[in-house]
Amino acid sequence: MSGRTVLVTGGSRGIGLEIVRAFARQGDKVWFNDLREEQIRETEAQLASEGLHVAGRVCNVTSFDEVGALVDAIVETDGRLDVLVNNAGITRDSLMMRMAEEQWDLVMATNLKGCFNTIRHAVKPMMKQRQGRIVNIASVVGVMGNAGQANYSAAKAGVIGLTKTMARELASRNVLVNAVAPGFIETEMTAQLSEAAKAELSRQIPLGRHGQAADVAQVVLFLAGEASAYITGQVLQVDGGMHM
Ligand code: NDP
Repeated sequence: MSGRTVLVTGGSRGIGLEIVRAFARQGDKVWFNDLREEQIRETEAQLASEGLHVAGRVCNVTSFDEVGALVDAIVETDGRLDVLVNNAGITRDSLMMRMAEEQWDLVMATNLKGCFNTIRHAVKPMMKQRQGRIVNIASVVGVMGNAGQANYSAAKAGVIGLTKTMARELASRNVLVNAVAPGFIETEMTAQLSEAAKAELSRQIPLGRHGQAADVAQVVLFLAGEASAYITGQVLQVDGGMHM
């Protein structure tokens, strides 16, 4: 499978960038969005230097209208949207006793409503095509919980519920919807953790190493490809065995 039109949210760094790179390498036409123009141009230039040409746009996933405009632009340009990867996500960690309402709201708006916004707009072209793949990046903490991440784990658990419901709603139109639940992946998001917290997490990983963005990207490619044609509504954990 190549030559498809793919949208990856939050694609200019971390796991998203690796997903963009992986699709572009196999010959797909990749669009991605992010919050910062400068960072988007840097990512495009970096990938162009690798011979990969991708299209970045500023678009905040919390905005229903901005996401709608982006999906419309993609469909106008390419005539279709084959794969949607909901990757954009943030953390605003705090124990519940100290969690501010803004921390809760922003994480929900980005990590959960962001997925609603993209899926709501992507289902139209995908249903019309009678073909599509949606891969939502959840988290292992959406399955197992994590002290200090009530907002994040609730949003990611919501993403899993959304994934299963979309899988049921869209199966008859041949739109397959799955989630990937990464464990500890080395990106700027996890770089903020203290050395002690990283060491404690490492102890919980049977494979004995932190994950890399490419570990996640390869699984996303699988869930967007032909080899997974009979898989929908599933949550694939990419966590080195951290949670079983
Ligand atoms: P990073 O913080 O490295 O990157 C997040 C990306 O999302 C950035 O490009 C960021 O853009 C973008 N983004 C954030 N908010 C928005 C928004 N409102 N609209 C558009 N784009 C936005 O995170 P990771 O690569 O580590 O994480 C990627 C996904 O994987 C997230 O959903 C995360 O929850 C999930 N995940 C990560 C794990 C890990 O260990 N790293 C573990 C489990 C899940 P900008 O640079 O402009 O802020």
